Amino acid sequence: MASSGTGMGDYDCLVVGAGIEGCATAYQLAKRKYKTLLLEQFPLPHSRGSSHGHSRAARYAYHDKIYADMMREAFPMWYHLEQETNTTLYRQTGLLILQEPSQGSFEARLQTVKDLGLQVTQLNGEDLNKLYSGVQYSNDHKVFLEHKAGVLMANKCLTSLQNRFIHFGGKIHSEEQMREIIPGNMVRVRTNKGEYRAKSVILTVGPWAGQVMKPLGLNPPLKTWRMNVCYFKEKQPGTFPEFPIFAELACNNRYIIPNHKWPGHLAVVYGLPAHEYPGMYKMGYYTGNEAVPPDERDKFAQGVQWDIRIMQKYVRDHFPGLEDEPAIIEQCMYTKTPDEHFILDKHPVYPNIVFGCGFSGHGFKLAPVIGKILCELAMGLPQSYDLQMFSLKRFDKQKRLPAKL
Ligand SMILES: Cc1cc2nc3c(=O)[nH]c(=O)nc-3n(C[C@H](O)[C@H](O)[C@H](O)COP(=O)(O)OP(=O)(O)OC[C@H]3O[C@@H](n4cnc5c(N)ncnc54)[C@H](O)[C@@H]3O)c2cc1C
Repeated sequence: MASSGTGMGDYDCLVVGAGIEGCATAYQLAKRKYKTLLLEQFPLPHSRGSSHGHSRAARYAYHDKIYADMMREAFPMWYHLEQETNTTLYRQTGLLILQEPSQGSFEARLQTVKDLGLQVTQLNGEDLNKLYSGVQYSNDHKVFLEHKAGVLMANKCLTSLQNRFIHFGGKIHSEEQMREIIPGNMVRVRTNKGEYRAKSVILTVGPWAGQVMKPLGLNPPLKTWRMNVCYFKEKQPGTFPEFPIFAELACNNRYIIPNHKWPGHLAVVYGLPAHEYPGMYKMGYYTGNEAVPPDERDKFAQGVQWDIRIMQKYVRDHFPGLEDEPAIIEQCMYTKTPDEHFILDKHPVYPNIVFGCGFSGHGFKLAPVIGKILCELAMGLPQSYDLQMFSLKRFDKQKRLPAKL
């Protein structure tokens, strides 16, 4: 599907990075008839960024209302993509938010779901034990079930967006790495295969954002984290396929990494039904293991994997129906900002260079809306959302590197 680059050409827009955010952005551009090229450094599909794998959770239960508002638009957009591609991309499973008293953002999330008028059921730990076999919670746990939440089939979402992008006339060049950006009225982009010119360039380079932004004089405080995703096997086959997504918030009193290098971050253990591996349940630890450079993700995997140990403890404490040794472990990357809000902004000096990055481990579900926002920013269209909280300016206290150009 993706072609190798011709290395020449003029475009309305050039999008760098074919993860979920770049693909959703390219789709929006091509659908609006902008002549668009999507560049990707690796062969597609690949598993070295943040968007690979089979599943991502989609939910409304956010602490910050703006994300819930965006989800109101994102859900129908995913549905529309399903219709366009005749592909099932979403499975409604429900989402359990759990929290021990006086910790985390449980109440705010519950209020968000209620304010949207969505179906929600409040429970406690023992209700859960009765409803589902294989789990064990005490009544100290407050719980609510957001019924509409569910699982996006991540790989299928990616290929569906790529297919539609090409259908609308877009071009994908995989195995072509952007090496240099030369600002101007027409931005010049040099790659390992040639040079292009575009009225606007959108950089959706995921964990590579820090290194791509530096030569443009920007140094936002981004950290890239290696995340282990564990699949735990059911002791009794058939126990967990109907168990919803769950997220236990701020359980950092019992589930915290010793000497964690970025304190203050929300500690969350979460899980999803693993339809990709029948007989297993998928879990992750949102806080992450340690910050690593994206090109050396696995070099650092030799030491103690605290996040895996924490998930194992969580399984022993709350999922007696699962074996506590992960049967499969996969890796992925988070790119976190200190406030865990995204960066959706133009370059302060070169407004036809636009950034979409810092998705902090929660950007997949919102990709259709992110794509629309980045398209609006790059093409000078009216903005659908107030983007203040996603600005680069919020890091102004941080030292900015001098622009090379
Ligand atoms: C374990 C895990 C679980 C998650 N769970 C959820 C969830 O349940 N719900 C949710 O909403 N989100 C979730 N997320 C977050 C979500 O997956 C990410 O926010 C999202 O995938 C980020 O996509 P991206 O396009 O920004 O980055 P990526 O997918 O990394 O894409 C960036 C692309 O840019 C390319 N690139 C970089 N530099 C260059 C260059 N110089 N030239 C050409 N190409 C380049 C890279 O190769 C890469 O393909 C999860 C993430 C992980 C890791």
